[in-house]
Amino acid sequence: MEEIQKPLILIAEDEDSNYTVLKMLIERKLYAEVIRARDGLEAVELTRTNANLSLVLMDIKMPVMDGFEATGIIKTERKELPIIAITAYGLSGDEHKALSAGCDDYVSKPIQTSILFEKIKYFLNIA
Ligand SMILES: [Mg+2]
Repeated sequence: MEEIQKPLILIAEDEDSNYTVLKMLIERKLYAEVIRARDGLEAVELTRTNANLSLVLMDIKMPVMDGFEATGIIKTERKELPIIAITAYGLSGDEHKALSAGCDDYVSKPIQTSILFEKIKYFLNIA
């Protein structure tokens, strides 16, 4: 029996509580698998070692390397890999900066799950 290939999503998020909620929601509602990066540099490395990645959720504010810089590097190497930025509430300008850095889309904290799922499904091409 062949196993159905689940989409693999990288969540780059330094805060444990944010990561835990996102992981739970994605695994339950999207039937996807999740891996985690705790900073931007780790996110870059994980995109290099996981060729089967389908999508990246990229927190912007992270230690070591922020989400803008990580996105810039990832997009030079894997242009086709969709990246959705997670921007901090009230920091106007971050949305624009995220798109300029190469992110395909963004959601702002606090994340509205219905909007996040719409965007993820759009990029994963699932109904
Ligand atoms: Mg953060």
